Amino acid sequence: MASSPSYLLPRTSQDELPAALDQALTDVENQFDTPTDLLKQITDRMLWEFNKGLAGAPTDDESFMPMIPSYLQQVPHGTEKGTYLALDLGGTNLRVCEVELLGDSKWRMKQQKYKVSEALKVGEVTALFDYIAGSVDHFLTEIGTSASEDEKLHLGFTFSFPVQQTAIAAGTLMSWTKGFECKNAIGKDVVQLLQDALDRKHIHVRCSALVNDTCGTLMAAAYERGDCLCGGIFGTGTNGAYVEDIDRLTKMGFQADELEANKRHGLDKMVVNTEWGAFDNERTVLPFTVFDSRVDRISINPRKQAYEKMISGMYLGEVTRNVLLHLVDSQVLFKGYSTRALNAHYGLDTALMSALEAPFVPNSTESGDPLAAVRDVLTSSLGLAPALVADADCSAAARVSEVVGTRGCRLAACAIAATVRQTEQTTQGQEKELVFGLDGSLVEFYPRFEQRVRDALVEILGADQAKKVKIALAKDGSGVGAALCAQAAAAMESKGATTVRKD
Ligand code: ADP
Ligand code: MG
Repeated sequence: MASSPSYLLPRTSQDELPAALDQALTDVENQFDTPTDLLKQITDRMLWEFNKGLAGAPTDDESFMPMIPSYLQQVPHGTEKGTYLALDLGGTNLRVCEVELLGDSKWRMKQQKYKVSEALKVGEVTALFDYIAGSVDHFLTEIGTSASEDEKLHLGFTFSFPVQQTAIAAGTLMSWTKGFECKNAIGKDVVQLLQDALDRKHIHVRCSALVNDTCGTLMAAAYERGDCLCGGIFGTGTNGAYVEDIDRLTKMGFQADELEANKRHGLDKMVVNTEWGAFDNERTVLPFTVFDSRVDRISINPRKQAYEKMISGMYLGEVTRNVLLHLVDSQVLFKGYSTRALNAHYGLDTALMSALEAPFVPNSTESGDPLAAVRDVLTSSLGLAPALVADADCSAAARVSEVVGTRGCRLAACAIAATVRQTEQTTQGQEKELVFGLDGSLVEFYPRFEQRVRDALVEILGADQAKKVKIALAKDGSGVGAALCAQAAAAMESKGATTVRKD
């Protein structure tokens, strides 16, 4: 008997399932089960990887989480004021924002999106950055700015490609992804490329921070709530950044006098980008099923992002699809018939899992028979002929989605629990809440995401500690979050932080 809780109607209280389907489902439930002891083991292992990463595992050793220092050494309280720019490259569009921090946890934002042409994505890198600087110029003349003319505007740059960051405003491009392939860019400092382009156009803007979107999420949540321990993303992928003691970031090789100087200036912390999606690539504790192996094998990055592949939006639907196909091939579901959508790689979007489970949520806006609602989803989105979908099939499909999704939520809780335990020594004894600012479609739309995470947190940490964890939806890390990073960089510089400079 699987021990993970169920959030749907109990299977036994529904119409009886045919014995063979019932048996096959029980087998699936057992494979996806994540009992409390396993969650605790996974959390322990994650803590171990956190600390390996902080100490600096060899760079060619991919078995540890990267634990990348962000060089951000202060987190907003909500009282910060001023006008800052944010630039976001790496999504569908280039986005330029002006964020006015009002000092009461509120802000005003103006923004404009600019299209990056296919030619710019593969041309000379200076052409790309000239276009970016031109977009900033256009934004400032046409849409901005409420800032004063004589002072340089500080800008936070969210650059969502692999970079080796070397200071808060310096980072070397390691490789391009997402269809970008600009020439003469690899190995260059992307902040310098941007600053040179801005300077060529005599634009009165200084790029003061290079921002990872997870760190931006943390900063945005901290500004809104007065404090934040960790920013996390559960969207297409998953990742988290949290506030660590600089003493424990041993791989940064701070000299004793430098540590002392930082502490004197109140800069005793640093935000660390964990890249926790890469947890357990070694496969020591995660509960791999044959379905996970199948998803991994035909993914674009086999044997990478092991944890992410059990948790995030890009993969949950794909795991579910594989389980449904297994039941079809076992002749216990949909009378043994599949469909084109169900056969297609990534043919079941994770958003469909929300649609399959939502009808079972008490007080959901959907009224009427949950099985009828599920049948609608199966016929309209997966192309199943109504005659192939019995009530038992609807019940089973929703249950499969729940089983895969619940495992994802419970594993997600392990990262939160590991962060709580990692930071215990500094937060211990404090009565204040531990704020986790989370962003992404799963957090926002997947039914009972928070409840499932929370239930698992109670199992891992115990009710008292779990109670301190506050999960807050934090949006727009690459807009307001990046602006807050620019604000923090400027403030750190005026405090004499050594990490602001490149050397
Ligand atoms: P990104 O991570 O790219 O910023 P999102 O946070 O919107 O974007 O996450 C996109 C992922 O979330 C996709 O993989 C998609 O399948 C999934 N998704 C979108 N809508 C939903 C939903 N309603 N329920 C569950 N997952 C969803
Ligand atoms: Mg996002």
